[in-house]
Amino acid sequence: MPRTSLIPAWIVKDSPVHGKGVFARRRIAPGACIIEYRGERITWEEAQRRAEARGGPVNHTFFFTLNDGRIIDGGSRGNEARFVNHACEPNCEAIEHDDGRVYLYSLRPIERGEELSYNYALIYEGRHTAALKKLFACRCGTPGCTGSYLAPKMPRRARAAGVHGRSGSSGSSVSSDPPG
Ligand SMILES: [Zn+2]
Repeated sequence: MPRTSLIPAWIVKDSPVHGKGVFARRRIAPGACIIEYRGERITWEEAQRRAEARGGPVNHTFFFTLNDGRIIDGGSRGNEARFVNHACEPNCEAIEHDDGRVYLYSLRPIERGEELSYNYALIYEGRHTAALKKLFACRCGTPGCTGSYLAPKMPRRARAAGVHGRSGSSGSSVSSDPPG
């Protein structure tokens, strides 16, 4: 597994954006592998069940959708990567390796003390109601902020409404496509 240093380049603390965040503890070069996104691997159906049990769609934000349609549940057996917040113009991206493991990489030089972020690119196939938009309102403060965690709706195959959490980098919907 890729490692750049034995000492983590990051630290978890309260974020001005949302809840807890992950911050650079030292300068990070572009393209550095920062942290793995760990958690229990579950089916899409199990993710739906857990989201409902946790009280609704907003709790999908610990889910990371893999290319094969399964989900990493960062809320179960996860690590600090689940605290990395969303930003519309992030300084990191999440990349799924061929073995299905997901790592966060820096997109540009990150200064010490900067909060790490990546674009969750959440896909929600239900109606984007005002209440839902409020639930997923983004206050990342980056210049390109769209005001929402949610990726714009795109035409796609009909499927049960739900949020596909954290579908990889750069707003791509590829990893949110159904398996097979
Ligand atoms: Zn934003």
